[in-house]
Amino acid sequence: MTLSRFRSALLSRCAGRIAVACLTFPVAAAAQGAGPHPYRPGVDVIDYAITLDLPDRGTSIDGRAVLAIRRSVPADTLVLDLVGLRVDTVLVNDRAVAFTRTDSLIRIPTARIVGDSFSVTVRYSGEVKDGLIIRTDSAGRWTAFGDNWPNRARNWIPSVDHPSDKATVTWTVRAPSQRKVVANGELMEETPLPARAGTAPRTLTRWREARPISPYLMVIAAAPLVQYELGRDGCGVGEFDACVRQSVYVYPEMRDYLPGPFAHAAPIVRLFSELVAPFPYEKLAHLQSSTRFGGMENVGAIFYSDAAFKRRAVGTGLIAHETAHQWFGDAVTEREWSHVWLSEGFATYFAELYVERSEGDSAFRANLVRIREQIIKAPEVASRPVIDTAQTNLMELLNTNSYQKGGWTLHMLRSLVGDSAFFRGLRSYYLANRHSTAFTDDLRRAVEGSSGQSLGWFFDQWLRRPGFAELTTSWRYDAAQRRVVATIAQGTRFGAYRFPLTVAITDASGRERRATISVPATASSTISVPLDLDAAPRSVAFDPDVRVLATFSSR
Ligand SMILES: [Zn+2]
Repeated sequence: MTLSRFRSALLSRCAGRIAVACLTFPVAAAAQGAGPHPYRPGVDVIDYAITLDLPDRGTSIDGRAVLAIRRSVPADTLVLDLVGLRVDTVLVNDRAVAFTRTDSLIRIPTARIVGDSFSVTVRYSGEVKDGLIIRTDSAGRWTAFGDNWPNRARNWIPSVDHPSDKATVTWTVRAPSQRKVVANGELMEETPLPARAGTAPRTLTRWREARPISPYLMVIAAAPLVQYELGRDGCGVGEFDACVRQSVYVYPEMRDYLPGPFAHAAPIVRLFSELVAPFPYEKLAHLQSSTRFGGMENVGAIFYSDAAFKRRAVGTGLIAHETAHQWFGDAVTEREWSHVWLSEGFATYFAELYVERSEGDSAFRANLVRIREQIIKAPEVASRPVIDTAQTNLMELLNTNSYQKGGWTLHMLRSLVGDSAFFRGLRSYYLANRHSTAFTDDLRRAVEGSSGQSLGWFFDQWLRRPGFAELTTSWRYDAAQRRVVATIAQGTRFGAYRFPLTVAITDASGRERRATISVPATASSTISVPLDLDAAPRSVAFDPDVRVLATFSSR
């Protein structure tokens, strides 16, 4: 997801009219934690079939969720997450059972089940307070948009609400016919329902996502949206179809804005398909929505903030970021929240890879300089590691560590092992974990395999401890050696780092040459730069290509 203006928006909302949701949310988030233990051990939801009846007005829904469950260890009780709503009945293998209910859980007796697979049906209803954002917009239009990150799906979907439990999902939504219903996956059915006297006409819409996805990415939209077809592109690179179908859904008054920045949607999908693997889902829709984030990467249906559309300011970088998540975050999902950089760091860096491809090297480098400055200024970078297992408030993980420093770590990994090994490693990491979940060590092993290098030290120094390198550089010309001798002193605040460092030397004739030296993790190192020079150089520049996450000062 993208955070633009999120923090200030959340603060202003918490101060204002929807204070209840803001107050209750961190409690739910903290309860889940980021611990190393499986969320619901021995339980695996395979499929959700969710049927929702949406109202003409108001926030009250009727729901029926059928979960296909497999368990690996026998247990007396199955625990599902569902906050607030009334549970009317629970069936196990189609037979009613006596369940118990807390404010946030449903406890379902399962002692009598024979075998390791069974179905659970939950009928539920009530006023939705969060997760499915139902509201009337400034034009008086009733709208509903799912917005689940990180664990708000439980406010409207009976679920094992954790990214580690991925499942396929079928959405069946009955809603007033003026509302377009869009969801994950492929459109299976759009059928007008028989008219009932005195009520507005209603339509049944069914979408099916055939790939397993995490609950935080399961959404519907129901709003008076119009569809703008971007067409089929990325032909020959799609996983499901010869071409990737993309479209944009907006309110009617925004139609003349299109395609606008979404003209980039096709080349973005094409680039990422080439760099990683075919697009992993049935289609990709981009929607004007009510997400609290700048953008949210729901599988096959990216939701963008309404405000960005109204300002006609949806950025190409935002589209690239959310689209990159379809591979990283959505298809390969972090198994624990503490590894969320595997989602946000990748999306941040891949947005820059699109800049590199579409605008060129100098724009790419300028962005990396800007992002490096953000990292160096961020208090959380100085105090906490990227993989932050101590953080229990999940919202706090949406920070400069997960996004910018995670992205920069990928950039340094690419510099360290080279383009070919980097992208081969990313591809093998992706293909090994696609439609499943991963830890940072899965990425490490994949790039170790593609590069033939041991990389434990690299991941430890950049992701498992706070900070960045603080370097003081100096050089002298050694006439006897005919070489520049560089001295790199490292600050003590975050300890010493090991990294390759490119040195650009402009010789006496004005010709620039480059060499890369290996800087060890020591307080100070003096290294002869392997370029023969006939005379003292005119100038020496360190890290000219912006490849080290460091502050530089010269002595
Ligand atoms: Zn993101």
